[in-house]
Amino acid sequence: MRNKIRLSSKNSGQVRYILLIFILIAGLMISSAIIELRQSKKELYQLMTEQAHSLLESLITASQNTLYATNYLNDLSRQRLINYAELIRQRYEQKRLTIHFLQDITKHSDIYRIHIFDKHGKKILSSYESKHSGESERQEPLRILEPIFKGEQDTLVIGYKKARFANQYLYVIALAAEDRSAIVLNIDAEEMIKFRRNIDFGALIKKVVGGTSRIVYIALQNPQHILAASGNISELDNIEDSEFLRTAFSDSAFATRILSFDEQEVFEAVHPFIFAGESIGLFRIGLSLDPIQDINDRIYRRLIIITIVLIIIGFVLFVYIFTRQRLHILQKQYEVVETYSGNIIENVSDAIIVLDEKSGIKIFNSAAEKLFATNKDEILGKSLSVLFPAAECRKVLEEPSLLKQLNCTIKNQRRELLASKSVFQDSDENQNTILVIRDVTEQRQMQAQLERQQRLTAMGELASGVAHEIRNPLNTIGTIIQQLDKDFEPSADKEEYHELAGLVYNEVKRINETIQDFLKFARPQPVQPSRFPLTELFSDLQKQYSTSLREKNIRLDLNLQWQGDVYWDGNQMKQVFINLIQNAVEAITENGTITLTVSPEKDGFVEIRLQDDGPGMPEKIRQNIFNLYFTTKAKGTGIGLSIVQRIIFEHGGILHVESAPGEGTVFTIKMPVSV
Ligand code: ADP
Repeated sequence: MRNKIRLSSKNSGQVRYILLIFILIAGLMISSAIIELRQSKKELYQLMTEQAHSLLESLITASQNTLYATNYLNDLSRQRLINYAELIRQRYEQKRLTIHFLQDITKHSDIYRIHIFDKHGKKILSSYESKHSGESERQEPLRILEPIFKGEQDTLVIGYKKARFANQYLYVIALAAEDRSAIVLNIDAEEMIKFRRNIDFGALIKKVVGGTSRIVYIALQNPQHILAASGNISELDNIEDSEFLRTAFSDSAFATRILSFDEQEVFEAVHPFIFAGESIGLFRIGLSLDPIQDINDRIYRRLIIITIVLIIIGFVLFVYIFTRQRLHILQKQYEVVETYSGNIIENVSDAIIVLDEKSGIKIFNSAAEKLFATNKDEILGKSLSVLFPAAECRKVLEEPSLLKQLNCTIKNQRRELLASKSVFQDSDENQNTILVIRDVTEQRQMQAQLERQQRLTAMGELASGVAHEIRNPLNTIGTIIQQLDKDFEPSADKEEYHELAGLVYNEVKRINETIQDFLKFARPQPVQPSRFPLTELFSDLQKQYSTSLREKNIRLDLNLQWQGDVYWDGNQMKQVFINLIQNAVEAITENGTITLTVSPEKDGFVEIRLQDDGPGMPEKIRQNIFNLYFTTKAKGTGIGLSIVQRIIFEHGGILHVESAPGEGTVFTIKMPVSV
């Protein structure tokens, strides 16, 4: 039968526990990474908001400063020109104005050109002799200077203007003289424009954006135009088109959002730009979300690493658990095999003894304990000579034959043993000897008994046939002798005749009795069992023999260790013990002890030992005592033990004798309690 080994609940509980811890750790690691990702994103948004806010604040402040500076520069230039214009007007009105004077001023005061136009727009004086002439050159000053010519304005700041005949910008003012002539002063605005370019919004924005790659764009935008912007702003939406921008612009509030710009996610912050109470536009700043992406990437990388590590740990854990389980199963299987082999060795009916030279006896099973009537604990570690006498021991260990028969005396009992020896080498290279010993004493006894019984039966059958044939002529002889003794009187030796006739008759009678006895034996009564207490049988016998035993000073000791009921033929069994006790009494002759011991045996058997301390028998006699008509006694019949043996045999028992000269005789009967 195949044994299925299952994991014990303790072991599977441990596995569940390990898996639970692993899942918990994995969950903790992954969730902590996700929480960190969220937290970092939140913090970064916060940071970006603050950054964008302060950037916008700085931009607004810088822009305001730019505006202030530009205005201041314009004011300065204008005032300087006005001052010169005043001087020139005075000269003009005093009619002292000459070309030289004008050229002087232009030369020493960085003024590019000075023109005087009369109220019709005709250039009447100029610091510069123009080579150009024509209608077109007169039309433009006339149109621009119209407010002066018409008397609408005394001072006219014309501002920046492209030179007509050169790729050059000029800053221009005009002052009215009393006669509504216009005194026009130009300065080269190149430097001013350069300065403005350097400090205007566009420049400012470009400078700010150029400083960092994090800023995707900055733009100043009003509902109509983009006033200033960095880089590619073609994708920027109009204020009017976006609810977010409209709200921020009209609420004059700082606001942020995330939008898609140039195919990337951008964090945008907006703030309206107000200068001198006038809303100029909305500053928009787009910040790159790369840092967040970096964090994302980093955390995702970490998550991937964590996952890989977890997979590796999981795999290692799986291999570990699997190996442990396999080991556990193997251990269990090993234990089962070991227990099985242990149980087999322990429960096998043959005695098994394993020994090596170093450690002595290592295995001594319960059959061995029983055979040698010794406890295992007293034997383990000892040498084999503890169990066998030296000669037997040598025979067992040294003789190479595998199977051998031993006749040993164990605890004073002769035992016939069959021993088989095998040798093997264990993993420590120890030479181990395994002895399997079978006690065949009873088997041999049964066999001997069976053989005897067969012999007896054959002899009985032969003899009973002969006896039967003899009985009839013998009866005739007896009758004739009696008749002759009665009817005939011899003429001489009458007395001797009658005596001889009587002798013949008695001998015939004796032969007849012997034949009767023999036929009784040869045609036995069938066994008629009944239940009775065994003690009853022995107490009856004790009573029956008490007088004769007392006369001969022989003691009959009863040692009844088992006192149950038996289901035997009471009369036949009584005959058995009468014959045995009678033989013991005859053997002892005077002063001795007969001990009758009853002890329980396994499998519903009892053992009855009848021991006498008589002279015992030599081997030659012992071998023949169960033979029919074997007797050593002058008046013996030699039939008693044959009857004993037949009855025991018919009850399913075994009869065995042990005897040696000077050591008394022991008859042992092993009988089933019920026939
Ligand atoms: P018988 O008693 O008529 O001789 P048995 O068959 O009873 O016939 O005995 C056979 C022989 O066995 C005896 O003659 C005797 O030699 C021997 N014998 C039997 N019992 C004992 C005993 N207890 N002690 C010694 N010898 C015995």
